[in-house]
Amino acid sequence: MTETPRTAAAAPHDASRDASDLFSELTGSDPRGTWSAPGRVNLIGEHTDYNDGFVLPFAIQHRTHVALGTRADAVIRVVSTFDPVPVEVAIADLGTLFPARREEVPEWARYPLGVAWAALEAAGRDAASVTGVDLAFASNVPVGAGLSSSAAIEGATAAALDDVWQLGLDPVARARVGRTAENEAVGAPTGIMDQMASNLGRADAGIFLDCRSLEAEVVDLGFTAAGLELLVMDTGVKHSHATGGYGERRAACERGAALMGVAALRDLTPADLDRARGLMDDVTFRRVRHVVTENHRVLDTVRVLAESGASAIGELLVASHASMRDDFEISVPELDTAVESALSAGAVGARMTGGGFGGAAIALVARERVDRVRDAVAAAFAASGFASPTQFTVSPSAGAGRD
Ligand code: ADP
Ligand code: MG
Repeated sequence: MTETPRTAAAAPHDASRDASDLFSELTGSDPRGTWSAPGRVNLIGEHTDYNDGFVLPFAIQHRTHVALGTRADAVIRVVSTFDPVPVEVAIADLGTLFPARREEVPEWARYPLGVAWAALEAAGRDAASVTGVDLAFASNVPVGAGLSSSAAIEGATAAALDDVWQLGLDPVARARVGRTAENEAVGAPTGIMDQMASNLGRADAGIFLDCRSLEAEVVDLGFTAAGLELLVMDTGVKHSHATGGYGERRAACERGAALMGVAALRDLTPADLDRARGLMDDVTFRRVRHVVTENHRVLDTVRVLAESGASAIGELLVASHASMRDDFEISVPELDTAVESALSAGAVGARMTGGGFGGAAIALVARERVDRVRDAVAAAFAASGFASPTQFTVSPSAGAGRD
């Protein structure tokens, strides 16, 4: 382990070089190449993805890199700066390893090995038709901060294997492969937003995604033109999909949709909420209300961006945070403090981002106010006795590919 991901976030290092170096340590030779995929920030649309709804994430400049080389045998071996012990599996065994025997490999290795398994399945390719590979990972995406280091490692793996194994997967297919790996090989019941953002990202743009049709539209965010920066305030509070909160929210959404007689909450509009209130308990109703109103906020955000520019979306971000705090109940005091202190110091808008229960909040801030907001957030954390947050700005960046 050379560097902790959290400090790396503050000062992104050359993770491409680190991946190559790790590869050379492992194999004694140079890699065939390096590939990478970004983490992402979700501008708005939280917990709407698995409800077949809308999201508006963008890829960030923090990336996970993988150095890859081929091997003479039919083995896939993975190693990461996070864990110096390499993990190797016969490619022919991937099909029985996942999902049934996944416990046999360390959790982190289930991400890249799961991608290898899902990519072969997606391409309809036999294990015997591909060469053995060594993959060495290094990253400057902070882990567990809601910036999707998981989609980054999945996207980097899918890009590298697709090229070297000539699987012919397009970016949307690679995103699906990442989700399959995360759902079935890792066992985390996440949606596809993160993988779509990581695979489809573009500089200066967001990905407006319909999670039902997987239709994605690249939307100009215009932060630079509006003189805005996007500040990430990582609380350092660890979230985990393995703990119950995320699964419980998904279950409440499914319950709510069933009670309303729709396939997914995406099929409801704010006009349906009165009827919903009478059909379910208060907790389920508030979970439903968050998803239904959040979907509309995403549509509104896309419209407002086009009509009035990024400076005009602040209220939508603030309303999104309130809905997650009060209706979906996935915020924590550190996230609320970050949002409130950023707004008090003059941010245009702010909200928690990611799955909740920790991780990061984001604030949209005029360039000349970034330092003031950053200082105010740090001071508010100190005054509340919270551990000092890690803060850095992110800019919408390109998606997965060969370096
Ligand atoms: P996040 O919000 O960062 O996506 P997740 O819990 O979804 O948090 O995924 C984080 C997990 O992904 C890590 O605990 C680790 O198992 C795996 N992971 C991410 N990046 C790497 C990496 N560079 N090397 C090894 N494992 C990684
Ligand atoms: Mg993740």
